[in-house]
Amino acid sequence: MQASLQNKLTLGYLFIALLALGVSLYVFEKTRILEQRVLLGERVSALFDAAMEIRRFERNYFLHRQEADRLENSHYIEQLLALLNKNQADFSQLGAPQRVNVLRADLARYQGLMQAYAQSADPGRRAALEPRVREVGKDLVACAEAAVTSERRQVRDFLITFRTHLVFAIVSLALLMIAVGQALSRRVVRPLKEMEKSVNAVQAGRRDELSRPSQDREIVAIVEAFNQMLKELELRRKHLMRTEKLASLGTMLSGVAHELNNPLSNIWSSCQILQEELGEADVETQRALLAQIDTQSERARNIVRSLLDFARDRAFERESLALLALVEQSIAFLKGDIPARVRLRLDIPPDMWLSVDRQRLQQALLNLIKNAVEAVAQAGHGEVAISARRERVDQEDPALACRVGRQVGGDCIRISIRDSGQGIPADLLPRIFDPFFTTKDVGHGMGLGLFIAYQVVEEHGGCIYASSEPGQGTTFHLRLPASTLVPAP
Ligand code: ADP
Repeated sequence: MQASLQNKLTLGYLFIALLALGVSLYVFEKTRILEQRVLLGERVSALFDAAMEIRRFERNYFLHRQEADRLENSHYIEQLLALLNKNQADFSQLGAPQRVNVLRADLARYQGLMQAYAQSADPGRRAALEPRVREVGKDLVACAEAAVTSERRQVRDFLITFRTHLVFAIVSLALLMIAVGQALSRRVVRPLKEMEKSVNAVQAGRRDELSRPSQDREIVAIVEAFNQMLKELELRRKHLMRTEKLASLGTMLSGVAHELNNPLSNIWSSCQILQEELGEADVETQRALLAQIDTQSERARNIVRSLLDFARDRAFERESLALLALVEQSIAFLKGDIPARVRLRLDIPPDMWLSVDRQRLQQALLNLIKNAVEAVAQAGHGEVAISARRERVDQEDPALACRVGRQVGGDCIRISIRDSGQGIPADLLPRIFDPFFTTKDVGHGMGLGLFIAYQVVEEHGGCIYASSEPGQGTTFHLRLPASTLVPAP
């Protein structure tokens, strides 16, 4: 049978319940015995009281010779005898087992002497009997007193033993409960804590899936469900990335075609001149034309390489690159789509080198710049300003929700893309990063650009947020961890 938390918890609680039941039964049994001892104590006291009464009426009888006293005396003798007969077995437990027999024999002797005394009319014989009666009466009381003392001692011993056992049982129960609690905690709480650590590691991007902290059925099921969910999410994210890539590819292709056209025309015209002036032109002119062909071919090759880079479905791979060059290249891709009435302004330190996944960051930048250009173009004319700087985010930052990794505040790189477009209404602002959220007409927007940008920035351990005032334009802020910054080669 597969181990399960439910079984372990049930077993633990069953164990504690059985122990508690055992202790309760023990206490119940002991209190029942105690009750019996108290009843026995009452009967032993009655025995002692009867012996004392016998002696009291004996004394009165010897003093006043009243028949009533003698009758009372013999009444208590009968009572004592009845008590002895009724409780023979119980009284035998009190100290020495022969005590009841001694008491019974003393009583029989006493009764005989009292009868002889009562029946005798001879004063001499009576005088002789009187001290003997007194002596046997004394023995009778002494024996009853010993029974009372023995009974009290036994009750006291019983109570001491009971108290010791009870303390021992309570301490053992407490210790066992602690041990069971610790065992359960080891088997239940510890795997959950390890899972929490694992989830945090997945969240921080340090691992891809949860490890199994125990073989318990429930834990295994949760871990498997969670890992399955992570896989599904990853698949969907990749699928969305691919969909968006196809859409961006169209934009890029027109940009690339436009970009390729220039070097190709230059190469073509250089070739034409060379063909026409072959053998006529001086060597320097021919060399200049060949150099021109070389530079322009290199430029065309770079454009094609970028296109291949973009189209390939690669794993996340960091490389060092100059942010300014990456932004300029992205703008070059979009050139065909940027109307003349939209001005572009760059304020990026040329020595700012980052260690990023070129293709992914470029895709994010393309999406953001394209949106900004479209917003400005829609508003008529204006400017798109792209800036970058290293900054320190303090704890008071209103956009603190945008955290770089798990860190709140601290050093980071901020890339801002500000446009003077129509802005985003406040009620739409929280939804713009949702997949498929778009305000554009069918065929013009898929609502995936910002979603992809968000994913890309997250993959780099950074965050992205937008600030906008309707009519005042929009600014998208990308924050990347300061560790992204690398020295210029
Ligand atoms: P799409 O551009 O295909 O609609 P995006 O995810 O790129 O998808 O953008 C989602 C929505 O966010 C856009 O439809 C638009 O309403 C809004 N948006 C994005 N960038 C800007 C911007 N710079 N200015 C105004 N609105 C913007």
